[in-house]
Amino acid sequence: MENNTDKKPTILIVGAGIGGLCIYQSIRKHLGQKFNVKIFDRETGPRDRWQGYNIYINRKGVTSLFYCTPPEVQARFPEAMPDPAPKEHHTISIVDHIGKQLLWIPQPTYKSVYEIEPLKHDFAGIVTYRNRLRDILLEGVDIQWGKKCVGYEESDDGVWVLFDDGTREFGVLLIGADGINSPIRKQKVPNLEIFNLGVTSVDVDVALPKNLAEKLLAVYNYALMQKSVGLNGDAFFSFMRFIPIDQSDESYYRLGIGFHYPTILDTDDSNSKLVDDDNPESVMRHTISRIKQLRPPCELTDLMVEIFSLVPYSDPGKKYPFRTYNPPRRRPLRDIDPLSVSPWKNDRVILLGDAVHAMNPLLGLGANNAIQDADLLTKELLNYVYKNDDLFACIRRYNEQMRARSSKDVQSSRNTALRQNVPIGKFGEIFRFMMLRAISALIYVIVLIQTRS
Ligand SMILES: Cc1cc2nc3c(=O)[nH]c(=O)nc-3n(C[C@H](O)[C@H](O)[C@H](O)COP(=O)(O)OP(=O)(O)OC[C@H]3O[C@@H](n4cnc5c(N)ncnc54)[C@H](O)[C@@H]3O)c2cc1C
Repeated sequence: MENNTDKKPTILIVGAGIGGLCIYQSIRKHLGQKFNVKIFDRETGPRDRWQGYNIYINRKGVTSLFYCTPPEVQARFPEAMPDPAPKEHHTISIVDHIGKQLLWIPQPTYKSVYEIEPLKHDFAGIVTYRNRLRDILLEGVDIQWGKKCVGYEESDDGVWVLFDDGTREFGVLLIGADGINSPIRKQKVPNLEIFNLGVTSVDVDVALPKNLAEKLLAVYNYALMQKSVGLNGDAFFSFMRFIPIDQSDESYYRLGIGFHYPTILDTDDSNSKLVDDDNPESVMRHTISRIKQLRPPCELTDLMVEIFSLVPYSDPGKKYPFRTYNPPRRRPLRDIDPLSVSPWKNDRVILLGDAVHAMNPLLGLGANNAIQDADLLTKELLNYVYKNDDLFACIRRYNEQMRARSSKDVQSSRNTALRQNVPIGKFGEIFRFMMLRAISALIYVIVLIQTRS
């Protein structure tokens, strides 16, 4: 359908990930009387692609999520962000290669996601089921599935978005929320390139039996975001909720866990060339041998090997939680820094989320930024509609603020990954211990001041 018969102008969104769905919900909530909104995704349906298990949504992300969504969506948040269970600590713990604690961030007390926004605590947040959050954000959204965007054409009064099936749609604005490989970004800002960090990541999902879940949580003092840094540029990174997913004979828990190591180890090693990334068994054999090579023999290493041995090699079927199975592969950590290029033209094509500022997952900030983009863009569009601000001045303010905020997080996440990718000796180990303990102490002081004021 090429002609828009409705009088209201249409905003087009490409990409129905967390970012695209947030801006869709937000436009409908705040600007529904002024605009039609249409959203397209290349997938054939909501279950096409693995949607991830657990992500951390921090207080800023939670605040923007509430701003963007209507009450009926907010009422369902506990499905994705269940109330904290006893013992759960919704923040990060970092331990070293043998499980010695290096950093542990204090957590505020709250009973549900509805209590997070007003907290005076920079490190407040909640570990969230990413796939469930996306399901909830799909509520009431009429997605046009199977529409792979291949580019766009601008005219004086709008934009045509072009799809690979030969169709096109017209709107007054086009929002590219189409992820790290965004064709819209490639056309709009061709010099904004993806940066490869030289770190290989093997991210897997495991249904963890209770005894292993207890052991893992004990290592991290019941923190749900967990990192163990090694001596050889390697690290484990995991997220979980201590809420069982299956109560049959034994309780099982959802764990998302990644093992990171310097990519150069694979490039320099002839055996690594034999690894078949399309064969999960081959990938997991390789990952476990890397863990054994880079980690000292100890209880923590044994636990990690045991956990990685539980990774399913094929889709275990419909049984929760493997409904959208993600075959294990070696993947490079990559990011995009929007401040690495000069400001682009403030026009009718707007970028949002990973499409413009993908970041590695180590600090858990990517989705949080995408949600904040949706919040910020809505507020600027409200300025245009209700304060009669110039449209392109509003888009410029969005671009400036989005670029500055997200670039800071891209750089912090990048620096964290690059720092941990370097092998360290005895001196480096002592330095890291002292540095992380000092950061821990500083965070305690900040939190103390914030929560007392
Ligand atoms: C292991 C891991 C852990 C993470 N942990 C956290 C965390 O704790 N906290 C956090 O904030 N972030 C985390 N992130 C990052 C977070 O998942 C992403 O930043 C977030 O999902 C980005 O959302 P998005 O909507 O911008 O992009 P995406 O989720 O990538 O969505 C893009 C959408 O666009 C569609 N699309 C792509 N190309 C086209 C096309 N040509 N035409 C039409 N549609 C297209 C895709 O199908 C997809 O639906 C993590 C990421 C990983 C991998």
